[in-house]
Amino acid sequence: MAERMLQFVRLEQRQPEKRDADARASDWNEVYSKFKATEAADQSSRCSQCGIPFCSVHCPLDNNIPDWLKLTAEGRLEEAYEVAAATNTFPEICGRICPQDRLCEGNCVIEKGFESVTIGAVERYITDTAWENGWVKPPTPLRERPESVGIIGAGPAGLAAAERMRMRGYQVTVYDRYDRVGGLMIYGIPSFKLEKDVVLRRHAQFEAGGIKFRLNCAIGQEISLTELRARHDALLIATGVYKARNIEVPGAYLAGVVAALEYLTTSNRQGLGDAVPEFVSGALDAAGRDVVVIGGGDTAMDCVRTAVRQGAKSVTCLYRRDKANMPGSMREVKNAEEEGVRFEWLAAPEAFLGDGGVTGVRAVRMHLGLPDATGRQQVEPISSSGFTIKADLVIKALGFDPEDLPAMFDEPALSVSRWGTLKINHRTMMTDLPGVFAAGDIVRGASLVVWGIRDGRDAAAEMHKFIEMRGKSLAVAAE
Ligand code: FAD
Ligand code: SF4
Ligand code: SF4
Repeated sequence: MAERMLQFVRLEQRQPEKRDADARASDWNEVYSKFKATEAADQSSRCSQCGIPFCSVHCPLDNNIPDWLKLTAEGRLEEAYEVAAATNTFPEICGRICPQDRLCEGNCVIEKGFESVTIGAVERYITDTAWENGWVKPPTPLRERPESVGIIGAGPAGLAAAERMRMRGYQVTVYDRYDRVGGLMIYGIPSFKLEKDVVLRRHAQFEAGGIKFRLNCAIGQEISLTELRARHDALLIATGVYKARNIEVPGAYLAGVVAALEYLTTSNRQGLGDAVPEFVSGALDAAGRDVVVIGGGDTAMDCVRTAVRQGAKSVTCLYRRDKANMPGSMREVKNAEEEGVRFEWLAAPEAFLGDGGVTGVRAVRMHLGLPDATGRQQVEPISSSGFTIKADLVIKALGFDPEDLPAMFDEPALSVSRWGTLKINHRTMMTDLPGVFAAGDIVRGASLVVWGIRDGRDAAAEMHKFIEMRGKSLAVAAE
């Protein structure tokens, strides 16, 4: 091992090739290429095989990173894939879109002076190679069980739970109000970060493994929660968060002021080949327009970069804090800058201008004041610092809140927090309704795909325990 590993002293960190900014701004393909076999082996061999691997400690899935790096360095890729897949339903997706700089790679101990191991790119390489070689198998159980589980929501949390329950032998049905599987992985995240085939091929595998999908089926409308509870031995609510936060300034309801997810969903649908009237009519198409995006998170970065690809005349991002305080991934900010997006840091909108349709944004400069109770510096407007930016499309990317779930499901007994997220017992992952569990963004608030997978995996373990315990109690009662 010693010879093959610990190569960080000899080999420099290399990321997979990144396409030129001009080339990538003119298509919708992913920005980063896949490693070549020798690159993946070399980069994996930089790992020093830590006794306490901080990369794994800071991976929400506790991935066994040192083991799959070693196997990759040795060219044992099928085994590397098996290790990666043991803890992760979507290693190829996390390899592409996890903010590795804040998670595994950001905590790699060889960071200082030598730069971390490129863990995400290797994870993607292993799993893409597994797909090419037919090593990725449908989730089929060794033994079927008669009990069934219902899962509401086909995003990463719901799908991770579905996979785990199916592998335990349960009859699994996933319900989703959309017409495609994947949640925000299909309709939120743009294809230049995550190509859609990567999500669609997983859907096909799940179906091949016997997971049933009922799409275009909004729970609370088509089927009630009560009916679903009667149908299944356990239920999981994994419905995500979708209510866009608004900004109450004059002109907020002018035509041309739109919500980020509406804009991104339309663009993703268009890319998937759907006929989307909002795109055809031009209402949600940035081509030839001056676009201003309000916000500084990953959703805002996805909007600015989508607008670039749609052929916008200009794209400006308005964020009320500075670059160092942006919530989004620095990698995505850098990509946006390279693609020609202009950033107005420390600036917030005061009004959207126009008569009927938006024509501009009046903004004010901000400065960072004293920290609040959470330690985050407060932003305060600077008087007489107003300025105007031309805009005929304004996209609001200010974050998301949960919909009113007790009302949606007509189930007042479902407790929610003051932010509207579902309350669960964090040990059992069960809501106040016996046999009804919850996972993902609807519990955490807007988060990450990798946390959705983690929650789905944990919820599956708890649903399994619940069904087993109930079976045992019934058996005792029958004696
Ligand atoms: P979701 O993915 O939201 O899935 C919930 C599903 O439930 C949806 O399919 C929805 O249709 C369905 N549903 C809702 N209500 C009902 C109902 N009543 N009946 C039936 N079905 C219902 N994370 C990252 O890790 N990396 C990124 O780069 C990244 N980029 C992002 C970009 C954007 C634009 C956005 C919005 C989010 C991004 N995220 C990213 C966050 C990530 O996508 C989410 O944290 C994750 O998808 C949450 O998973 P989930 O399964 O809880 O919910
Ligand atoms: Fe890193 Fe995400 Fe993979 Fe974990 S799942 S190893 S955090 S890229
Ligand atoms: Fe390897 Fe870095 Fe993880 Fe240590 S922290 S095991 S060097 S990847």
